[in-house]
Amino acid sequence: MSKEPDFPESDAGTEAAAQAADSHAASGNTPFAVVGGDAAAVFAEADELGLEDDGTDSVAAQADVDEDADPGADAAEPADGDGHLHLDTPVLSDVLVAVEELWPESLAEEWDRVGLVVGHPDAEVDRIMFAVDPTIEVIDEALDWGAQLLITHHPLLMKGVNSVAATTGKGRAIHRLIEGGCALLTVHTNGDSAVGGVSDVLADAVGLTDVLPLMPAAHGLVEEGIGRVGMLPGAEKLGDLAARIFLQLPAVAGGVRVAGDKDALVRKVAVCGGSGDSLFEAVRSSDADVFVTADLRHHPASEAREARADGRPYLIDLSHFASEWLWLPAAAQALGNVLADQGFEAELAVSQANTDPWDFILTPGN
Ligand SMILES: [Zn+2]
Repeated sequence: MSKEPDFPESDAGTEAAAQAADSHAASGNTPFAVVGGDAAAVFAEADELGLEDDGTDSVAAQADVDEDADPGADAAEPADGDGHLHLDTPVLSDVLVAVEELWPESLAEEWDRVGLVVGHPDAEVDRIMFAVDPTIEVIDEALDWGAQLLITHHPLLMKGVNSVAATTGKGRAIHRLIEGGCALLTVHTNGDSAVGGVSDVLADAVGLTDVLPLMPAAHGLVEEGIGRVGMLPGAEKLGDLAARIFLQLPAVAGGVRVAGDKDALVRKVAVCGGSGDSLFEAVRSSDADVFVTADLRHHPASEAREARADGRPYLIDLSHFASEWLWLPAAAQALGNVLADQGFEAELAVSQANTDPWDFILTPGN
């Protein structure tokens, strides 16, 4: 049973999308410029996509490039008699080329497992769904919508397996995908690191400028790498910053946890979508006032708070799922734009499933 999703209609990613457009300008592609850099423009009501409307805010993003995008003068196909550009349905290998342009596999961490998990390169793909986790609930949602490709942030198969028999959860997921004719693609740490990726979108949601990676990529642009650090436009109270971030995230049971003085003023902010407690060293050397990330464990968090006399960096601990979900609408929009630029059209959607594993929380106040 699906937990009731309650997602914000955030325009997070707009700034990151513009940055990504810059980074791709050198290659002659302008993946974000074609829809004006307005991530909100790709949101559509769930019923337009044939998804169940449960009355909550829709998270479905639709980048129907035929209607919303001007593929530009360099598109592969000429205009027809009505002045509309004819765009082809891509096959999976075409989509993989577009994905590689946005989130190159060379940006993935060495330990990571990214790329195609399930799928035939020659299969046509006219519906693509984005999600954080390849759970059975998400796979069923993708199949119900008619997706031929599910792109998830987290890998389904991180460790080696000797069997994909449908006697295990992962085996059932593989079977469901193949039987339903849906490919599965992982965009994980390459999606974290890339310009316009997970941490850029989070930095954008926080309102940071002069953004740089916390850990620059070994093989990438200077703007690429894990985490980001940047400046707020002015000093802000820690409590106000946390409240602002909270309002932009999907509503999850665990909410947002903060370590630090609510009224302390902060200006320099480090962010990392997903688990960030391996980055404390980089956060400390960046001199950030506050670190916004997810999955913070007791010891790294406690040691970080002890390490500096003024208690900084303060910590804002988000839901892992929520911190990465923010990227999905921006990613869907970016992929739609790159496909259009390459002469293809596909419908894109963002999963409505809340795959945060927690269901409720007890605190002293309630
Ligand atoms: Zn993650």
